[in-house]
Amino acid sequence: MNLILMGLPGAGKGTQAETIVEQYHVVHISTGDMFREAMAQQTEIGIKVKSIMDQGNLVSDDVTSALVKERLAKEDVQKSGYMLDGFPRTIAQAEALDEIASELNEPISGVLYIDVPVEKLVERLSGRFICKNCGATYHKVFHLPKVEGTCDVCGAHEFYQRDDDKPEAVKNRLDVNIKMNTPLIDFYENKGLLHKINGDQDIEDVYKDVQSVIKDF
Ligand code: ADP
Ligand code: AMP
Repeated sequence: MNLILMGLPGAGKGTQAETIVEQYHVVHISTGDMFREAMAQQTEIGIKVKSIMDQGNLVSDDVTSALVKERLAKEDVQKSGYMLDGFPRTIAQAEALDEIASELNEPISGVLYIDVPVEKLVERLSGRFICKNCGATYHKVFHLPKVEGTCDVCGAHEFYQRDDDKPEAVKNRLDVNIKMNTPLIDFYENKGLLHKINGDQDIEDVYKDVQSVIKDF
């Protein structure tokens, strides 16, 4: 099974991805996570993308698609399938992915578009916090750890807020992504691959809808 998780920033892609991976064992590939890791390790790409990401702009299609191409060719993906999160974000990336998927003989099984009204996204992004150790995602109102201050997944006690979730970056990030969103939805709808999921419900209910789509892949 090869999936794409689509949705505007804050729609719940990473949150749903955690449970999908647990149940279906696909390889979770988040381009945002890859760029953040590159920044933390101060690799050449990391240094190049830092100011772009901090401002909430998109990294170039060439750099992003090359990164995904290299990752999808790895053995774990060939064995277990991929779940892309945050890629593709432009038509050029979607076209690049078609090429990569066909070269690797790993066709896209389906695209899950997690749909959340734009006005709810600022609240989601500004309340998001993340486990420093394992990357699990929480929200200060909607999704608190079961034991205060302790990550449900790995038991660590340190959390952080993403730089681009701070108010000055959020607005631009949403604007940039909204602009690209409709053409991408149309791209996958025309291919008959798009499945819309109502992301404006409790996390568990969103997952039930995700499951009912995935089971047919
Ligand atoms: P994305 O990966 O699409 O940017 P996340 O999965 O990180 O989004 O979710 C953004 C924020 O919203 C996080 O703080 C997360 O805990 C919270 N969240 C995710 N899904 C829901 C939901 N269905 N209802 C309320 N809050 C949610
Ligand atoms: P995300 O974690 O998906 O919210 O992505 C965080 C940031 O990483 C984005 O605001 C972009 O700067 C960069 N990024 C992630 N994925 C892509 C992509 N597919 N294309 C361009 N930039 C990306």
